[in-house]
Amino acid sequence: MYAGYYQYLWTVARLMAMKTDPDNGNIFHNGSAWRVLIVDDSPEVHELTKLIFGRFRFEDKPIEFISAYSGFESLELLRKYDDIALVLLDVVMENDHAGLDVVKSIREDLNNQLIRIILRTGQPGQAPEVKVAIDYDINDYKDKADLTSSRLISSVVTALRGYRDLCRLDNMNDILEEKVTSRTADLEKSKEAAEAASHAKSIFLSNISHEIRTPLNAILGFAQLSLRNEKLPLENFDMIQAIETAGNHLLDVINDVLDLSKIEAGEMKTEKSDFILSKLIDDISIMFDMRCDQKSLKWTLVNDYNKDVEVRGDQGKIRQVLINLLGNAVKFTDKGSVELRIFSSSNDQFVFEVQDTGLGIPAVEQDLVFNMFHQTAGNIHATGTGLGLSISKRQAELMGGTLALDSRLGVGSKFTFSIELPTASKKVLVSAASDKNIRCLTPGTNISALVVDDVDVNRVMLSGLLVDLGVDVVSAANGQEALEELRKKMVDIVYMDIRMPIMNGDEAVRIIRDEFSNVNVTCVAISAYSMAHEIEYYLSVGFDRYISKPFHFDEIYKTLKEFCGADFEYGKGIDGDNESAIAGLNDFGKLELPGLFYSELVAAVELNRMTKIRQLLDDLGLIRNGGAELKAYLSSLLDSYDTGSMIEVLKKIECNKDV
Ligand code: ADP
Repeated sequence: MYAGYYQYLWTVARLMAMKTDPDNGNIFHNGSAWRVLIVDDSPEVHELTKLIFGRFRFEDKPIEFISAYSGFESLELLRKYDDIALVLLDVVMENDHAGLDVVKSIREDLNNQLIRIILRTGQPGQAPEVKVAIDYDINDYKDKADLTSSRLISSVVTALRGYRDLCRLDNMNDILEEKVTSRTADLEKSKEAAEAASHAKSIFLSNISHEIRTPLNAILGFAQLSLRNEKLPLENFDMIQAIETAGNHLLDVINDVLDLSKIEAGEMKTEKSDFILSKLIDDISIMFDMRCDQKSLKWTLVNDYNKDVEVRGDQGKIRQVLINLLGNAVKFTDKGSVELRIFSSSNDQFVFEVQDTGLGIPAVEQDLVFNMFHQTAGNIHATGTGLGLSISKRQAELMGGTLALDSRLGVGSKFTFSIELPTASKKVLVSAASDKNIRCLTPGTNISALVVDDVDVNRVMLSGLLVDLGVDVVSAANGQEALEELRKKMVDIVYMDIRMPIMNGDEAVRIIRDEFSNVNVTCVAISAYSMAHEIEYYLSVGFDRYISKPFHFDEIYKTLKEFCGADFEYGKGIDGDNESAIAGLNDFGKLELPGLFYSELVAAVELNRMTKIRQLLDDLGLIRNGGAELKAYLSSLLDSYDTGSMIEVLKKIECNKDV
């Protein structure tokens, strides 16, 4: 039945071959070719197809035919060659549907979606065209009876073009995938580099802060030590007080920088405790009442919450945020007022609004002011680091709160700090004694201490304080020497620096815990490193407490009290029970102080103007109905340089005065 058809194909093929193949040579293995698989149980079909295509080229590539004579055989070849572009597939071979089975296997078992499939059937009745085209993933369907050589060629060309396009797409997919992989790798690298840089920055900041804190420890320490000296001439007192104030300011700046690096490194933690909110607000209010007064600004405090409430939260950070916002309000306001308004809504939500009538911040800069180091264009001359607001915002967020700004240029600014402060779980204990007045250990108390620090001045300063208190002190310049001292004579408490030559403090404390495991010696780390993980580390290696450098003497007193059961004698006029001393001030209730005199005295105390305070106290002595008594009382506080308590006392007087 097909004899005529094959004859026809044969003739056409020869004609074409003659036309395109002058030397009739073998071209199939010269370079890359389109690999086409002929699957047909009739060998003549193979021969004819090859003849028709002869030296035919598509896109400058010849066609390389491979042959399979059954469905089974074709699958073997398809598994062997993964670059077959096209299958010219008979349907009826070893069975009626052998070709169709091959289609299914190609698409499903071999999962080859690229290869093009042209069905060539001699018995279309066995495989109706539409049904096959729908059910099988073929690319063309040809009835052999209708298939002239030119139709076959154009059909093959179309299929090869389709294959080529799919390959390009596939290639592009590969390229894209490669690009995505390489970009991801680049991003991963940049992320690692950024993390490494941020880590390096944190280490750098931590080291720098260590390097600055160490000498500052000596400066502030000696200043504090000198201020303890009752015989210090007044003019020197003022100067040393100035050193202490400047040192504390420098410390604040360093702490800001360190705070930021802590926040960035995820090291900043909240420290919650129960506290009386109104006490914190009152303290802040005294401070800003003064500052506003100095700039002739009106200070307003609006307490719109239950003032008896005792709450749980990070008191230190709340204070820091409020002081920073209020400090800015005063700094950037030249006339008008500064107001702090506190109100609480349901769910323990507290809102602190700091409003001023100052410079204001232009709308475009309102988000930027929370960025590090950003200072508004209008504020180029003002002092500051541009860190305060970014720290405050992050601190507010760390505490689960928010910090928002509403400002109009030339009108003023309102910062709103909102935070949830649950009610305290237990009653807050008000600390009674003011450690500032501590003079020495009570007679008969024997405490011995070892001070270990490689920096001479630091060692001498802390030893000096302890000796001054009446503690027996030995000292060492590194961990090794400390161990030798302890082997000679055990002490009650060791104050140990961390970074030292020969043997570090952490190594020494490990040995102490190991070698003197049956001795209950207290070890306190005193270090200028204060990142959270560093503190955790000190405690994990055997220290009982960590004190950060520069330290306030209070912290040393606290360790002596807590670990060695120390009792202290207090400075003149103070018996340690500050509360009761102040409570006794009701006696001064009848005292009438002239308003101007009162504010001058409060300002002088706030600013630690010793000479001025003494002058004003002399005047105070002349005021009737208790002036002399109040003078005596305040003088006793002044003698022990307890200006904090002086303010407390004056506050009380102010209350009485207002009644
Ligand atoms: P600093 O005050 O040290 O410059 P801050 O981060 O606290 O840093 O503030 C950043 C900037 O935001 C300030 O320099 C100032 O330009 C602007 N700013 C902050 N608070 C106010 C305010 N209450 N009124 C006007 N401008 C303010």
